[in-house]
Amino acid sequence: MLIKNGLVFSQGTFSRTDILLEGGSIAAVGEGLAHEESFDASGLIIIPGMVNAHTHLAMTLLRGAGDDMPLQAWLSERIWPLEGNLTRTDCYWGGMLGIVEMIRTGTTCFNDMYFHMDATVRAVKETGMRAALTHAVIDLGDEDKAARELAESDRIEGLCRGEPRLTYLLGPHAPYTCSESFLRNIRARATERGLRIHIHVSETAQEVSDMRRERGMSPVAYLDTIGVLGPDTICAHCVHVNEADRDILLSRGAHVAHCPQSNMKLSSGIAPLPAMDAAGVSLSLGTDGAASNNSLDMGAETKAMALVHKLAGPMNLSAARSFAVATQGGANALGLPVGAIEQGRRADLVFLDARHYSLRPPHDLLSNIVYAMRPDAIRHVMVDGAFLMRDGELTTIDEELVCEKATEHALALVEKVR
Ligand SMILES: [Zn+2]
Repeated sequence: MLIKNGLVFSQGTFSRTDILLEGGSIAAVGEGLAHEESFDASGLIIIPGMVNAHTHLAMTLLRGAGDDMPLQAWLSERIWPLEGNLTRTDCYWGGMLGIVEMIRTGTTCFNDMYFHMDATVRAVKETGMRAALTHAVIDLGDEDKAARELAESDRIEGLCRGEPRLTYLLGPHAPYTCSESFLRNIRARATERGLRIHIHVSETAQEVSDMRRERGMSPVAYLDTIGVLGPDTICAHCVHVNEADRDILLSRGAHVAHCPQSNMKLSSGIAPLPAMDAAGVSLSLGTDGAASNNSLDMGAETKAMALVHKLAGPMNLSAARSFAVATQGGANALGLPVGAIEQGRRADLVFLDARHYSLRPPHDLLSNIVYAMRPDAIRHVMVDGAFLMRDGELTTIDEELVCEKATEHALALVEKVR
């Protein structure tokens, strides 16, 4: 298919050009291309889909179920009891609700860490989304639990194998919930199997001071000492990292998944992103779960990132840099050929209505997209060359049914722990 006459964001600039798609990939970007099947994108701005680099998809069911609480109380009194009662079917409908929101807000790929991941595999396959999935593993020093968790991880890895839009990662939850031997074992598996690692790192000051007391070093230094960090590692949060941690992350080529709204909402702190960016650390952006955000809207997350770091200086995280982190940054972290409109990338595209009020006037389109755009400016969304939303309608999802089912399951879940 040839996408004609769109205003295309490619190589850092907007230009009126055509995009040739072949087998779900971008075969060429330019003028004078031809194909018998064409799509007229006149009046549309075409940008790469955003990559949500850290989320817990099915937590959409817990949206608003416990807000404005201190982190430990939030976890132990609300989130963990609810999660303990989650079923596979709950996670399926929660996952579908999350995918509806992501498509509608211009996200075409997400990096998910949770459990009952077979439900998420099913949701991704049915909806046509792209995802990197991991079954979150926690051993708490218990060898039997470690073995059970790895068996489940293997099972989900098997479900993802050979699936075109699915990538599997290994997901040790965090340095404080996984024992050293377990983490070493997971690193060895990741290297042997060529899988990436997705882990929470230095999210709270408490976690860092506990680790310093127990091991005399920061979580980043500890993970490095035991060999976990590498160019295949995605470290979610990294709020409390110092200069030495930054040097380690940079020298290992590890990726940071920044989650500014979750960090603000849980009062975790503000990650030193401008300093990491200046040092050259690989940055990506995620929403975290909907229980701590409370949305999965990467546009809102991008704006929050661009704004929160300006408290420290007006030049921090420009619109262009923020957009790059939200797209290309996530693609780099996951090692996937997405996040940009270039020959050879997968065709994960978002089509915006150029006449939408929130994109007017067009002094600086990228600035408008980051700072002003409303989600209803998004007209079509494409993943792997297929439309998942066309003219504002989802093509692969019965949205009304999903909203109803997710509500039903979420209310029943809250009732269970009352
Ligand atoms: Zn998280």
